[in-house]
Amino acid sequence: MPSASHVFHRSSRATPPRAVSGQGVYLIDETGKRYLDGSGGAAVSCLGHSDADVIAAIRDQTETLAFAHTGFFTSEPAERLADRLIAHAPEGIEKVYFVSGGSEAVETALKMARQYFIEIGQPGRTRFIARRQSYHGNTLGALSAGGNAWRKAPFAPLMAESHHIAPCYAYRGQEPGESLEEYGLRVANELEAELLRLGPDTVIGFIAETVAGATLGAVPAVPGYFKRIREICDRYGILLILDEVMCGMGRTGTLFACEQDGVSPDIVTIAKGLGAGYQPIGATLCSGAIHDAFAEGSGFFQHGHTYIGHATACAAADVVVGKLTDGGLTARAAEMGAKLDAALRDRFGQHPHIGDIRGRGMFRGLEIVADRDTRRPFAPEKGVNKAIKAAAFEAGLICYPMGGTIDGREGDHVLLAPPFILTDDELGELVDKLDTAFAQVI
Ligand code: PLP
Repeated sequence: MPSASHVFHRSSRATPPRAVSGQGVYLIDETGKRYLDGSGGAAVSCLGHSDADVIAAIRDQTETLAFAHTGFFTSEPAERLADRLIAHAPEGIEKVYFVSGGSEAVETALKMARQYFIEIGQPGRTRFIARRQSYHGNTLGALSAGGNAWRKAPFAPLMAESHHIAPCYAYRGQEPGESLEEYGLRVANELEAELLRLGPDTVIGFIAETVAGATLGAVPAVPGYFKRIREICDRYGILLILDEVMCGMGRTGTLFACEQDGVSPDIVTIAKGLGAGYQPIGATLCSGAIHDAFAEGSGFFQHGHTYIGHATACAAADVVVGKLTDGGLTARAAEMGAKLDAALRDRFGQHPHIGDIRGRGMFRGLEIVADRDTRRPFAPEKGVNKAIKAAAFEAGLICYPMGGTIDGREGDHVLLAPPFILTDDELGELVDKLDTAFAQVI
């Protein structure tokens, strides 16, 4: 039966409970039931749901100037936020293009990269390389770049050309006897092989999440992987685009996740935690060299959306980023993330169906397996990740379980991305409720 609601919900058969308020790390529904937001929605709510400073900034900005179209004006909050982001950005990153969310940020990155090569007289570069099982957003360009076969399948006739190499996913990819570094080099070298196969002069760039989020479940790259990727990009003159829509903005314990990999991208996308859920905002940051090519070339990026650089969204994000940096919340994400990791290992380290516990900072993943020794996943028909999500929700915990195709097979994982303001007691509650959900399903 179709839902009676006039909202076109994700499920056309069911109307979800109505969320009516947020308090700290909790969301409260119309019946008064409280849910601990263990995944910040989808790694969004880094400050929890009732941050008085962000709310005040939104109120003040709306009263002063809610919106001024960027075809005519810049605004004080947009300039301030860009200054703040650039002060903390990876080396070489000098400009910020504001958008309204993650898919727009990736879409912008792809178009910026393409136009960059037109500006410098290399229009023959038309292709992107990404990784299998990756997700970079649901708009057609971002979806085309991604490597998640299930999400792309219905829209295959509309997809732009892209090519995929293996993800850096040691739990599933490392060969017996191979060190992590050797594994990282082997999978990074797939980029070089693919470039040579395609013809390096036809490729625009390589896009990857610094820490793979939704599709793999908080999987950081192994040491050395991104350094080798950076070398290959430089050698063949292609751009390195890091998608930090999910893993950026302090989530992994540094403002930009790539700081921990010792690499600087040419373009980096951010969203989710940037607005912390208070305003829809994302951004595409690029190197000075890319911006110079536009400035010295056509002088105009042939792109744009109505709400880019939205003054109220920028004012909210400026307070968020101020709290993450000067306010010390990113350091807190590192500290509480280490406690969360320890608590997960303590509780589930010997669980017969938890094969791997991983992640960085407040970005943690647990891989669910039928057999720990062989790492065999559960059969997809069992719907293990969906059942865990439902059991956790019933227990009053929001977590982000997903399944994805792993080397041609299905697998299940649970992603945790709680607000950085989580207290020790709330951390204990999160682990207890996850345990309750696991006990019902695995
Ligand atoms: N890139 C990554 C890595 C994501 O995880 C997501 C969303 O989950 C996106 C892009 C798309 O962001 P949005 O849903 O804000 O459009």
